[in-house]
Amino acid sequence: MKFFDRNLVKMFLFSLLTCTLLYVTYGLGFEVFLKYKSFIQYSLYFVFLIGFILSVFFNKSRVFFILLLFFLLNIFLGPVGYELLKGAGAFFLPFSIVFFIISINIIIVSFYRERGIFTTWGLRRIFIIFGQLYILYLLVTNKSLYQGLLSCLNSDFLYLGFLQNHFQAAEFLVVLWLLAFLVLLVKGLEQAEDYAFLFLLIQLFVTMFFLKEYPGILLLKFAFLSVLALNIAMIKDFYSMAYHDELTGLPARRALREELLKLGNSYSIAMLDIDFFKKFNDKYGHDIGDQVLKMVAAMMKRTKGGARVFRYGGEEFTIVFAGKGVKEAYDYLEELRRDIADHPFIIRSKKRPPQKPDQGKKTSYPAGTEKTKITVSIGVAEKKASHDNAAEVIKEADQALYRAKKKGRNRVEY
Ligand code: GH3
Ligand code: MG
Ligand code: MG
Repeated sequence: MKFFDRNLVKMFLFSLLTCTLLYVTYGLGFEVFLKYKSFIQYSLYFVFLIGFILSVFFNKSRVFFILLLFFLLNIFLGPVGYELLKGAGAFFLPFSIVFFIISINIIIVSFYRERGIFTTWGLRRIFIIFGQLYILYLLVTNKSLYQGLLSCLNSDFLYLGFLQNHFQAAEFLVVLWLLAFLVLLVKGLEQAEDYAFLFLLIQLFVTMFFLKEYPGILLLKFAFLSVLALNIAMIKDFYSMAYHDELTGLPARRALREELLKLGNSYSIAMLDIDFFKKFNDKYGHDIGDQVLKMVAAMMKRTKGGARVFRYGGEEFTIVFAGKGVKEAYDYLEELRRDIADHPFIIRSKKRPPQKPDQGKKTSYPAGTEKTKITVSIGVAEKKASHDNAAEVIKEADQALYRAKKKGRNRVEY
């Protein structure tokens, strides 16, 4: 859980920008918007379409569910829904109900793990969304139920009456909104889509705040910005998926290739390889091997000297020192090597390993945990006049790595 990361700040700034824009246009009057209302409505359908395509294509089920919910609500609130509700003798759908449904669903969705859209799991969730809208439909066509619900939603139990002046939601909704906000933060903001959900919540609140005039336009704006944010988030996630290694969170080979193009004429490149990792995997299993890769990557991220770390592939990593010669880089790498070698890796396994672990292992850890050590070998080379390109420097670093392995591993060679 990281509360104050850069993305969060960016997201808040973006929200602030959109709110300021809203405030400015609020002063200008909405006549212009009213004139283009149908155009905006059609553009909204267009971004919805893109959103659905992207979410199916990238298999983003959480975004898909929220998009679907938005889409159905939009129909409910739009001209089609108006005719439908009027025909059924139903009531107008106030924004507090929309607010309620969106907050609840964001909470629900933040507990989902990605399990596909057109799977049994996904289809069941889609069914639940349709179910909610059906319940809503039943509600607005039943006078006593509907008024009961509204009075619940609008009740003031915290006596924050002042909110009521600007804000159409009662305290219950504010608390629900805060809960959704907290859940998102606590569940961890891992992907761009999580930030998009947060952005969406902020938009929801702001929309509620300004809702007294021109609700139709405000709702359109809300839907438009939200769907747009979700689309951008999906594209961002796709981009970082291509450039980032999912397991370690490090930039991947593709990012390294671009980094190499940007380097000047003075730099060093190191190749790092975990020692006897095959044996480690055989002993503890691939999953625990993955945990070790993560831990090693986390330690590598802390390498000093302006090092940029990449996962080259498998259990091999690349470290780039821009503007540094091999002598300088060596000291930072030696420090890293020592840190990793000194760091005990605590292995927690529910299952005992298939082979008997070493007899002399420590007993101070609870059953099923074990302390082990990992070492790495590093080869480093600097850019020289004889190198045509970075690939040749990498090749030389690879040869140095080979020497480090030959000389007994757990060492840095250049
Ligand atoms: P050396 O000290 O000579 O480097 O020995 P090694 O066993 O580490 O060398 P080798 O390169 O032959 O083995 C690499 C092993 O790394 C093979 C594979 O089992 C393991 N490996 C590669 N990628 C991953 C991964 O993503 N996860 C896990 N758990 N293991 C991986
Ligand atoms: Mg290897
Ligand atoms: Mg290895």
